[in-house]
Amino acid sequence: MANDTANKTLKYWGWGYAEDGLSADQAKSLLNTISEGFGIEPSRDGAFPTMDAITLPTPRIEAPANLSKICTSDTHDRVVHSFGQSQPDSIRIYNGDFEHAVDLVAYPKTSADIAAIYDWAGNKNAAVIPFGGGSSVVGGVTSDVGCNFNGVISVDMTRMNKVLEVDPISRAARIQGGARGPELEAQLKPHGLTLRHFPQSFEHSTFGGWVATRSGGHFATLYTHIDDLVESTTTVTPVGNIVSRRLPGSGAGPSPDRFMMGTEGALGIITEGWARLQGRPTYKATAGFRFTDFFDAARAVRMVSQAGLFPANLRIVDGTELKVNGAGDGSFALMVVSFESADHPVDTWMARAEECCLDVGGVIDVDWRNNPEANLQGAVGAWRTAFIRMPYNREQLTPRGIISDTFETSTTWDVFESFYHAIKDATQAAIRDVTGHDGAVSCRFSHAYPDGPAPYFAFHAPGNPGGDGTVMLEQWQEIKTRCSDALIANGGTITHHHAVGRDHHKWYEQQRPALFGNILGDAKKRLDPKGILNPGVIVG
Ligand SMILES: Cc1cc2nc3c(=O)[nH]c(=O)nc-3n(C[C@H](O)[C@H](O)[C@H](O)COP(=O)(O)OP(=O)(O)OC[C@H]3O[C@@H](n4cnc5c(N)ncnc54)[C@H](O)[C@@H]3O)c2cc1C
Repeated sequence: MANDTANKTLKYWGWGYAEDGLSADQAKSLLNTISEGFGIEPSRDGAFPTMDAITLPTPRIEAPANLSKICTSDTHDRVVHSFGQSQPDSIRIYNGDFEHAVDLVAYPKTSADIAAIYDWAGNKNAAVIPFGGGSSVVGGVTSDVGCNFNGVISVDMTRMNKVLEVDPISRAARIQGGARGPELEAQLKPHGLTLRHFPQSFEHSTFGGWVATRSGGHFATLYTHIDDLVESTTTVTPVGNIVSRRLPGSGAGPSPDRFMMGTEGALGIITEGWARLQGRPTYKATAGFRFTDFFDAARAVRMVSQAGLFPANLRIVDGTELKVNGAGDGSFALMVVSFESADHPVDTWMARAEECCLDVGGVIDVDWRNNPEANLQGAVGAWRTAFIRMPYNREQLTPRGIISDTFETSTTWDVFESFYHAIKDATQAAIRDVTGHDGAVSCRFSHAYPDGPAPYFAFHAPGNPGGDGTVMLEQWQEIKTRCSDALIANGGTITHHHAVGRDHHKWYEQQRPALFGNILGDAKKRLDPKGILNPGVIVG
C-alpha cells in the first residue's frame, strides 16, 4: 500500500527515495570539509538499522471492515510513518527506537473516508496523525503521542493528489491536500500556469502539508509563504467540514482560511483548497555579490527589500555556511539575487539591486548581464549545488555521531545585529558546554521583508565520542533548548517557516499571547471534542 511513487521506495532513514543520496565521493568530501575546516570528526562509523533489524510492537488496534481496504499495518508503512525528518527523528531511527511506532496507516481517497476514520478512532480512543509528505522537521508527524491513547493511526493524504479544477481566467486551481509538489505542478503545466511554491522539500511535501504548516517557498520576497497563495480551504474536522468561500480578498471578519492555516493537523485535515496561480516565468536574471562583512550584505538586503524591487531570490549566506558546504573559504559572505517574470524583462530591477549591493561594498561574484547560466557559476553555482545536496547530508552525519541541525526565525531590522550576535553566541556556548568543542554555527537569510529578515541558522558539532545515540539525543536536546530559549528571549519567533510540531511547542506557548492560546484550546475542544487529532501539536 505504501506511499511510494513511481515504483520507488521511500527511505525510512533519511530524505527521498532509497536510491537517492550522496555518492561515496560526495559523502567523503562532506566529512573532509567539516573535519579540515572545523575539526569536527566522526566519533563512530555506524549505520541505520536495516528493515529486518527493526522490531515494531504488535499493532494495538485493527482496522474495522469498513476501513480495512484503506488501512494497513505493513511494517514498511508503519516505519516510514512513525517519524519525520528532524534531527531527533534521525537519531531515534539510528537507535532503532520504534517503541512508539504508529499502529496503522490509512490512505483515504475521499473526505468520507476521513470522516469514517475519525468516527472509528474516536470510539477506540486512537490518536490520528495527518501525514502529507512526512517532511516535518519539528516532530509534526512523530508518532510518540504519550500514553493516553489506545493506538495511533497515521492518515497519509497522498491518495488525494489531484488538481480538480483550473480557473484560467482568475488564475487559480482547486488542489487536493495530498498532492506533492511535482504532481501538482505537472497537472498545472498543460495550462501554462504554476503555483510557484518551491520549498526545499518540494519533491516530497504536499499542498495540504504546506497549508497546515504555513510553509515558506524558495522565493525570498513577496509571494513566498503559502498563505499568500491560498484563496480558500476545505478542512474535514471530526464534527463537520469547514469550507471557505473563494475570494481574492475579503474584509468580512476573521478569515476562516487564515484560521485553519498553520493548525498542523490539530483541528482537522485540509483536504483541498483553491490556490492562486501565476504564469510560468520566461524572463530571468541572477547575480552574485561577495561581501567581506556579513552585516554589509545584510544592509544590501535591507536596501533592496525596502526599494520595493521584490526579487525572486535575495539570499545572503555567511562565510561559515559557505565553508561548511564547500562553496567558500570563510573569508566572504555571498549574496544571490534573482529576478524573474512571466510578463516583462527584469533588467531594470536587477540594475537597481546591483547598485544597492555595490553601494555597501559588494563585489561582483557572478555578473548577470547576458548571462543565462549565472546561477551555475562562481560561488553562486557552488552554493546552489551544495543546497540541492543538503537534504541528504544528515543521513551521512547521524551514523557518524555528528550532530547537525538548522533553525530559522525572523526579527526586525532595527535589532537585527544584536539579535544575530545573541543567537549565534547562545548556540556556540551551548555546543561548547555540551560537546566540549566549538562546532560550526552559520547563518543565511532564507527570506527578506521590508521590515526585517528571516535568519536561518545551521550548526554542526561532534556528538559524544564512542557513545551511543541516546547521549547524542540528549546533547541535541540541550543545544536546541538553549537556541530556542535565546530566540524567544531576544524577541524572535520560534519558527519562520518550519512550523511548531512537538519540538517547538514549549516555545510557541511562550511566544503566543496566553489568551490566544486559550482561544485555540477552545477551538480544539469544539472541533475535536475527543482530542484525538495530532495530540501535543499547536494545542498542548
Ligand atoms: C529537506 C527539507 C527541506 C525543507 N525545506 C522547507 C522549506 O523550504 N520551507 C518550508 O516551509 N519548510 C521546509 N521544510 C519543512 C517541511 O517540508 C514543511 O513543513 C512542509 O510544509 C511539510 O509538508 P508535508 O506535506 O511533508 O507535511 P508533513 O510533514 O507530513 O506534516 C506536517 C504537519 O502538517 C500536518 N499535516 C500534513 N498534511 C496535512 C493536511 N492535509 N491537513 C492538515 N494537517 C496536515 C501534519 O500532521 C504535521 O503536523 C523542509 C523539510 C525538509 C526535510
